[in-house]
Amino acid sequence: YYPETASISYTSLTRFPPVKLLPPSTRKRILVTGGAGFVGSHLVDRLMLLGHEVTVLDNFFTGSKTSLSHWVGHPNFEMVRHDVVEPFMIECDQIYHLACPASPTHYQFNAVKTIKTSFIGTLNMLGLAKRTKARFLISSTSEVYGDPEVHPQHEDYWGHVNPIGPRACYDEGKRVAETLTYGFHRQDGVDVRVARIFNTYGRPMNPNDGRVVSNFIIQALRGEDLTVYGDGKQTRSFQYIHDLIDGLIVLMNSNETRPCNIGNSDEFTIGEFAELIRDVVERVQQEDGVKPVGRVQILYNKPMPTDDPQKRRPDTSRAKESLQWQSRWTVRMGLEEMVRYYKAKMAEGSL
Ligand code: NAD
Ligand code: UDP
Repeated sequence: YYPETASISYTSLTRFPPVKLLPPSTRKRILVTGGAGFVGSHLVDRLMLLGHEVTVLDNFFTGSKTSLSHWVGHPNFEMVRHDVVEPFMIECDQIYHLACPASPTHYQFNAVKTIKTSFIGTLNMLGLAKRTKARFLISSTSEVYGDPEVHPQHEDYWGHVNPIGPRACYDEGKRVAETLTYGFHRQDGVDVRVARIFNTYGRPMNPNDGRVVSNFIIQALRGEDLTVYGDGKQTRSFQYIHDLIDGLIVLMNSNETRPCNIGNSDEFTIGEFAELIRDVVERVQQEDGVKPVGRVQILYNKPMPTDDPQKRRPDTSRAKESLQWQSRWTVRMGLEEMVRYYKAKMAEGSL
């Protein structure tokens, strides 16, 4: 008995969100690369709440330590600053390999680094999966379909990607990452899962990453005009983050080794989407009793980024049949939550 320890509180676990107590036989050791990013931090929250042991690897290029600070000190949680371009060794049962910047602004900031992250980073993590016999899930993307000639996009479509354009570092990086994944699967028997993720939004999406959801909401909240690139006829389908996290976890724990689209199949032209966001922001402001100072305008024909895909909508029949997964959040529901989140950030002065 050491009297000096008498004052230490052993109930400090109560300061964490309530974590399920799993028996060791069902508790998994899970590695999440890119776990400090937008998708990763939601995934880590969910895995922690489910009672698993989670290790996060992140170089904090676009992710932030604060996104997971509420878990620091929990015995089931560990966060390591590490760049996946370097090998890493750890014993684990499952790997969610998410590390890679996702917004055009960030992945084009250093195109060569983006390709290295996708290629060498994925090679390293697949090597780890092979050695530890961990199940490996990669977060691939709808960008593997490029500017598609087939609509909606089914997993059997091979895509239409410009291999030398400004988006290629990301698109081709993910394509080669998928090739590596199936190479390790066929050659070495690595147990793999491939999620092709379509445009996803939600809190705490980086407000400066230039993506359409954050741009439009912030513009509308500030009373600025909404900037539509080109004629606004290009389409996208937007899924809310909680649906994506459900999809990733179901896919990881399924027997589906083929690529799987995870997305919301409601498709909008960007012009329609601008109107929808303006409408949602106006409604939220009205509910909060904010007096309108005039309607924000939608400005068309702002310079169109090179190789911007013209159409995008997932065919999600495989996810429905094989995983019994489908999106549950309507775009309007998700946008309302997003608007309230950014509004609160603005009110506290952090945006
Ligand atoms: P994000 O930029 O918020 O997160 C990426 C995370 O990876 C960040 O924490 C970043 O610091 C980390 N990272 C980047 N390079 C790294 C490296 N070399 N080593 C270690 N860590 C590194 O992006 P996100 O939206 O959370 O996307 C996560 C994954 O999902 C990415 O693989 C992305 O390609 C994929 N994805 C996202 C979307 C979307 O709409 N958000 C759509 C399709 C695919
Ligand atoms: N976009 C736009 N205005 C903006 C930001 C984006 O019109 O302020 C368009 C962009 O050209 C693209 C679509 O919205 O056609 C989605 O862009 P985002 O960068 O969010 O995603 P991605 O192009 O990677 O699908």
